[in-house]
Amino acid sequence: MKKIVITGVAGFLGSHLAKDLLNEGHHVVGIDNFISGRKENLLTLSNQHFSFLELDASDQDLIHHPQLVNINEIYHLASPASPKFYQQFPFETINVNTTGTRNMLEIAKRCGAKMVYTSTSEAYGDPLRHPQSESYRGNVNTWGPRACYDEAKRMGEVLCYLYFTKHNVQIKVARIFNTYSAGLANDDGRVISNFVTQALKGQDITVYGDGKQTRSFCYVTDTIRGLKLLMEKESANGEIMNLGNPNEIPILTVAQLVKSLSNSNSSITFHPLPKDDPKVRRPVIEKAKGLLGWEPRVTLEEGLKVTIQQYKEKLNL
Ligand code: UDP
Repeated sequence: MKKIVITGVAGFLGSHLAKDLLNEGHHVVGIDNFISGRKENLLTLSNQHFSFLELDASDQDLIHHPQLVNINEIYHLASPASPKFYQQFPFETINVNTTGTRNMLEIAKRCGAKMVYTSTSEAYGDPLRHPQSESYRGNVNTWGPRACYDEAKRMGEVLCYLYFTKHNVQIKVARIFNTYSAGLANDDGRVISNFVTQALKGQDITVYGDGKQTRSFCYVTDTIRGLKLLMEKESANGEIMNLGNPNEIPILTVAQLVKSLSNSNSSITFHPLPKDDPKVRRPVIEKAKGLLGWEPRVTLEEGLKVTIQQYKEKLNL
């Protein structure tokens, strides 16, 4: 049995990962301050091997917490990730990805623990190279509404690099591309949760811009499997790796697909495109294929069918 810390345990990915690791028989210490995480996500984690600390991962006293000793693995996931939430909490987003990442790296160093830090495809900003491999250095605007997230994650990566090169911490960094499932709250604000909720309720499906901008959507089980492999594999130490589904699709096509898969009568309506919204996004995943033996298994259509069904149940429709 390993002792595993997950920050952001009440979030979308954190709660899913914690459930998996508890099922495998590990002891999970979860940390969350409920800025964007939800108490209801912890209900599925009631298990004698689960302990919860309601704390901010960027809290200066955190590293001295009596429960944060003898740790084998740390997943540092805590951070608002939806544009809606990181723009509402920009300073908290910066703190958790900078001071919070440093705190977790200090604990990893002290315990000799392995650590996965979840960075983001937003590290590439509005990319000028397409598709994006890990060697692309990105096109991020520091003077805009997305900068608090993009630059904080990039600084988180810098801290990981320093603790790897100076202190030999077994750190691995995932650049996660758009991930979805019905685990996203209905009011999360990201595109799949918005579109499915709108389609099921018969509301307008709100496409921002002309819908020609693209994303590549990965189902949650694939992303979680990738994070666990990243933690497991020695060859991934000190590496940055894209985790995402290379199947790229325009947002308008996503709207049409969601509408048809949910047999919805909703209209598709067009709204202003948010500032700095990336025009394209698609991961190159050769590195994850080679080092982890990982690639996504769930197609968008399969994932959307399950997501729609589960949202239906959640919404009592
Ligand atoms: N989007 C949209 N309608 C919505 C929500 C999002 O058209 O109701 C678009 C958004 O402008 C972006 C894409 O969908 O181009 C993905 O947005 P999301 O917020 O899910 O994540 P991002 O990849 O931008 O961080």
